[in-house]
Amino acid sequence: MDAEMDCVCYCGASSTLKTGWTDENLGRRFWGCGNYGKWIRGCKFFCWYDPPVNARSKVVIVGLHRRVASMEKERKKEKSLEILVLVVFFVGFILGKIFS
Ligand SMILES: [Zn+2]
Repeated sequence: MDAEMDCVCYCGASSTLKTGWTDENLGRRFWGCGNYGKWIRGCKFFCWYDPPVNARSKVVIVGLHRRVASMEKERKKEKSLEILVLVVFFVGFILGKIFS
């Protein structure tokens, strides 16, 4: 039987395919109810779409995810520093023009 057919929520809302981002299930897809997280008629139904990941793959995927997140954070810092240098250079240039 198709995984889609196995995962029908009993509240009546259609389920959508989502991706888990917890360390335990990083990148593992699941069917989540369309009413998940709603204040009124909220529903917590979900059903795994992907099979469980073996322990070694989990460690590798989590490690890679953390490295990418760290690199993205460093890149944002570098970008902020580049903008600051450009602003300081621009202000210095304008002040140099005014007072020369
Ligand atoms: Zn539901």
